[in-house]
Amino acid sequence: MGNLKANKSIAIVKWMKYRVNESVFNKLDFFLIERVINALSNYTYECETCNHHLGELEEYLLDLEFQRKTGKLRSMDYRQHKQKIRNIISHLKKEHDLKSSARSFNIFVPIGTAIGIILGFYLSQSIILAIIGGIFTGITVGYVYDTDYQKNDLTL
Ligand SMILES: [Zn+2]
Repeated sequence: MGNLKANKSIAIVKWMKYRVNESVFNKLDFFLIERVINALSNYTYECETCNHHLGELEEYLLDLEFQRKTGKLRSMDYRQHKQKIRNIISHLKKEHDLKSSARSFNIFVPIGTAIGIILGFYLSQSIILAIIGGIFTGITVGYVYDTDYQKNDLTL
């Protein structure tokens, strides 16, 4: 935390965020980049790879900002961008046990829904009510586990 490199990268992201249009904003996924920077900054002292990724990301962001300034962002290859971010995320997941919020949500919602439907049917004897209750339970359970992960700073 309080990592100098990370702070600089975050500053570049914040600067760029308000200077690109919505389509570029979504394609670059600035929210994800910020979460990735924060995650990396937690491990820079203990992990050489994270340290390396963070340095690389800073250089890359500076390059992106240059492309933005010179009006080249629109014709950029976003597949390469996504691949870059994906590589870093896969390191964080593999070596530091970080979980993606979408994944934990996707796991817990069906489990919660199944339990909810069984319980709902047992209690109300109505399949419609059971399904509605089940889906509601599923989303609640998914949400609770999801925020739990986020609290422990394990989500990307
Ligand atoms: Zn690492």
